[in-house]
Amino acid sequence: MSSAFPAHQALQQQLAELDARALTRRRRVQSRPCGPATLSDGKPLLAFTSNDYLGLANAPELIAAAQEAVARWGVGSGASALVSGHTEAHEALDHALARFVGCQAALSFSTGYLANLAVMPALLGRGDAIFADRLNHASLVDGALLSRAQLLRYTHLDLVMLEKQLAASKAKRKLIVTDSVFSMDGDTAPLPALLALAERYDAWLLVDDAHGFGVLGPQGRGALAEAQLSSPRLILMATLGKAAGVAGAFVAGSQTLIDWLLQTARPYIFTTAPPPMLAATLLRALGLVEHGDARREHLQAMITALQAGLADTRWQLQSSRTAIQPILIGDNALTLRVAQQLEALGIQVPAIRPPTVPQGTSRLRISLSAAHSLADVERLCAALRSLDCA
Ligand SMILES: *Cc1c(COP(=O)(O)O)cnc(C)c1O
Repeated sequence: MSSAFPAHQALQQQLAELDARALTRRRRVQSRPCGPATLSDGKPLLAFTSNDYLGLANAPELIAAAQEAVARWGVGSGASALVSGHTEAHEALDHALARFVGCQAALSFSTGYLANLAVMPALLGRGDAIFADRLNHASLVDGALLSRAQLLRYTHLDLVMLEKQLAASKAKRKLIVTDSVFSMDGDTAPLPALLALAERYDAWLLVDDAHGFGVLGPQGRGALAEAQLSSPRLILMATLGKAAGVAGAFVAGSQTLIDWLLQTARPYIFTTAPPPMLAATLLRALGLVEHGDARREHLQAMITALQAGLADTRWQLQSSRTAIQPILIGDNALTLRVAQQLEALGIQVPAIRPPTVPQGTSRLRISLSAAHSLADVERLCAALRSLDCA
């Protein structure tokens, strides 16, 4: 072994501290494609873990689309989009996404994390201000920090506080940013009221629809379509690795916005374009989302069954009408223990702990999918009812 390196020892000590607070995270190795019946670290489990809300991650139509696309395009794009990585498949996807969400233009990204790092630094800088719901996704916080604009965070859904911050702000340019469906709570943002504030205080409104796209609105067109909102100050971001079942993300809005992002969004410009195979598969996935009313109805039936199955138990679900159905527990170690007890019964539900959620709000995050059956949900409810963990 080499001689001691103090920075290394400090990291080891911090890792030990995380462990002592039941905050160590561990990856499970999956041996089956995404779906309710997993083989997780070699153990068969019924999983309520994925964001594959429509059950498309392993859909035969998309497997076929991917295979055709690989035969047509090979596997790599070879360069960034602005050099030579932007293929007919990418072009078709961007157009289809814009049409699907009813915006003038769209730009697809490799991941939602990158899309959220892109938008705010492209639009704002020093002297500007960003107003963010405190429970927004981490990628939105990082995007805001990267922009160097002032970041003001308002209490979750507290529009009175938001309006005070907006009214007091002397910033040159302003942007309000919110998740549409909050990823660890499943509740939804009041988008019409947020747009009204954006108009009153002359701000952009950036909506992260990672958990609404494909699920909410007519044909799954997302939270903005559900609320029937459109405005030149609206920026929609949504991911394509959740309900759309594949990978990637996009930003949609006015043509001017997208033209500007194409020139300035560093996480778009300075990265290799995603494989054309992904764009081609996503184009097919978009068709399945659009014609996915049966999948959405089934998902809704699973949500209703879970809520009914736990109604008279000690396991109180948070108020959520979406596929994300958390049970708040609070204590980190206790949350972990409940998850372990469920696992002993053959069921996997993630224990979500800080820093993903605020201190003292650890929870089980049940996520439902159209791939679940009624029997799956009943099994989860029965397992929870059988648990006694003081
Ligand atoms: C998952 C998620 C992202 C990140 O998207 P990826 O494509 O997984 O990088 C961004 N915002 C929210 C709200 C998310 O849930």
